[in-house]
Amino acid sequence: MTTAERIAAEEISHLTLVSKSLKDEMLKSFTRRIELFENVIHFYPQPFTPLSLTADRCQLSCKHCNKHYLQHMIDTSQNLADVAEQLHNRGTIGIILSGGSTRDGYVPLYQHTKDINKIKENTPLLISAHIGMITKEQAKQLHFLDTALADVIGDNRTIHDILGLEKTCDDVEKTLEYLNDEKIPIAPHIIVGLSDEGLESELHALEIAKKYNPITLVIVVFIPTPNTPLGDRNLPEISNVIKVITTAR
Ligand code: SF4
Repeated sequence: MTTAERIAAEEISHLTLVSKSLKDEMLKSFTRRIELFENVIHFYPQPFTPLSLTADRCQLSCKHCNKHYLQHMIDTSQNLADVAEQLHNRGTIGIILSGGSTRDGYVPLYQHTKDINKIKENTPLLISAHIGMITKEQAKQLHFLDTALADVIGDNRTIHDILGLEKTCDDVEKTLEYLNDEKIPIAPHIIVGLSDEGLESELHALEIAKKYNPITLVIVVFIPTPNTPLGDRNLPEISNVIKVITTAR
């Protein structure tokens, strides 16, 4: 056992509310982490800046967000290229194109092609984007992306009842498939605690993500957001969070 593993084992052993078998899984996944990435953690002091292409508007109003998170983004609905250039001049290295969704479940990146081309021509900014669920034709228009950020939901009920979309896990999977076909790097996002179906849904989401060779996996832990229909929902069980992270590793 390496020094890092010994320290990790010691820390893990002090955890309360976590079963012995989960602690074993944590240590196993820590060992795997060291194998893959050595004993190094990267911190990004200059995170990508989120920009909303739709101001504070969204045609979906999902039950866990209800447009809340758009309030923290810079409104670039009218002046995307100018804002991006200003951010670059201030030292920002990357931007996340985001925003509210259309009724069909995709972020309307496609109306901003002219501005996006201008950003690519005039700045070295890295560009990621929340894309939502997309078609094959839309994927073909996303070659400007350094990374596509896609929510991967592992059950149809959550897609219907919480996101309010007449879509299924097949549409989630097709989105990843189309991006893969276009060789666009993907960073699937899995939200632990969003689904009423619990761990089963999240583990299924992991299975879906695994098939499409993601460059990064983002595991988000659901937090109840005030003034949303899920504002009173409990946080997910810590054991579920551990299970998803260790299974992913
Ligand atoms: S589509 Fe995005 S911005 Fe709109 S409510 Fe859902 S999570 Fe919030």
